Amino acid sequence: AAEEGFDAEEVEEALDEAAQGPLPVLAVVGRPNVGKSTLVNRVLGRREAVVEDRPGVTRDRVTYEAEWAGRRFKVVDTGGWEQDVLGMEATVAAQAEFAVEAADAVIFVVDAQVGATDTDEAVVRMLRKAGKPVVLCANKVDGPTGEADAAYLWGLGLGEPHPVSALHGRGTGDLLDVVLEALPEAPEQTFGARTGGPRRVALIGRPNVGKSSLLNKAAKQERVVVDATAGTTRDPVDELIELAGKNWMFVDTAGIRRRVHLQEGADYYASLRTAAALEKAEVAVVLIDVTEPISVQDLRIVTMAVEAGRALVIAYNKWDSLDDERRFYLEREIERDLVQVRWAPRVNISARTGRHLEKLVPALETALAGWETRVPTGKLNAFLGEIVASHPHPVRGGKQPRILFGTQAGTRPPRFVLFASGFLEAGYRRFVERRLREEFGFEGTPIHMSVRVRE
Ligand code: GDP
Ligand code: GDP
Repeated sequence: AAEEGFDAEEVEEALDEAAQGPLPVLAVVGRPNVGKSTLVNRVLGRREAVVEDRPGVTRDRVTYEAEWAGRRFKVVDTGGWEQDVLGMEATVAAQAEFAVEAADAVIFVVDAQVGATDTDEAVVRMLRKAGKPVVLCANKVDGPTGEADAAYLWGLGLGEPHPVSALHGRGTGDLLDVVLEALPEAPEQTFGARTGGPRRVALIGRPNVGKSSLLNKAAKQERVVVDATAGTTRDPVDELIELAGKNWMFVDTAGIRRRVHLQEGADYYASLRTAAALEKAEVAVVLIDVTEPISVQDLRIVTMAVEAGRALVIAYNKWDSLDDERRFYLEREIERDLVQVRWAPRVNISARTGRHLEKLVPALETALAGWETRVPTGKLNAFLGEIVASHPHPVRGGKQPRILFGTQAGTRPPRFVLFASGFLEAGYRRFVERRLREEFGFEGTPIHMSVRVRE
């Protein structure tokens, strides 16, 4: 590598970075208006503004990538959900519960100027039950005089309150140092691949696409004796279902079965649920209702699965109700809206009649195999050499950027690092990805590709 202009250290650093598997997840919870979004903005270094000025506005983006002291992690912001029909206490606690379920550590934000309220106490009870590491943030301590207010929060029984002014940045660095200590290096992994247990499946899709129908139909096939299954770590919200003679762990099914009817914030709540399920899953099955036009919400859910780096299967449901005319439009919509995930195995099913449910299993297996594919370095570089020779990058400003070599830094999903002599345009990178897929498969998996340019 050295003779190509990259020294060994540089290469190693790039590989380490690319090899980082799933990032640990930090949830920020608390009542409305305590300053959660302001704090999240601080943590993100204001790279992404998440504070909404209109209450009740739907925010579907709930997880962000952050970095502190050289460590990367994900932040789940729960600031987007307003009080609804359940009433404040239940709403805040339920919302926090969702976020906490998928989190490796939690920041619980309290408004120190107001002190602990009944709603705060309700969240504390939930946090105790969840058993995740909690860092207590006493927010709105804008100056030294507020420190006394913060001290009162010892009374919550969550240990030391950390006085912070999210607005002015006071104390946020110290808070993050404590958070990093609480956050595990790598998220706790209960992936079946690692334990030899059942593979973990997230069944996702917008409301009414047929998620609970599919789950019920599948569960009816055969009941599984859970305790007898080796390598099974199981939350009460997960469900073990046998399909084609194999056990599959459908994660976070409580969110599917428990039909909480929410008005305001319902979309946000659904997004949070989807994000939580994806965190825990290896492969996502996105259900799409073929009787209705493919919607922005469908595409958003597909995007969430891809961004989460999970293997992906797309199941077109309600095939029993599809007429010829609708079918014509459906295929065009798929062509138009879902080209980016052309690599995802597709099954046409009916949760109602059971049509083609058996096809789900080979699709899941294909996607998981793609997700775990590793290309040996020698093979990869032979392939890259061919590409460079047959399809060189267009000349830009008198120079021709060239891929010098590449390597696969990780799997689940496959991560590649390409080392290049100049900036590679997005179009060329897409071309390389397309050719990689043609050459090595990768069916059903997103591919991460980063490019290092020789300075
Ligand atoms: P969320 O609903 O918990 O996400 O709260 P927001 O982040 O939207 O903040 C609610 C209000 O509190 C906003 O007007 C913020 O400007 C204000 N706020 C947030 N953090 C602080 C702080 O540290 N000090 C003061 N004085 N105000 C703050
Ligand atoms: P969920 O909100 O995604 O869990 O959706 P449900 O499973 O509750 O289904 C929503 C509606 O679609 C219900 O009325 C189901 O009976 C109906 N449904 C689900 N699957 C099918 C299917 O395969 N064919 C038809 N025709 N209807 C279905």
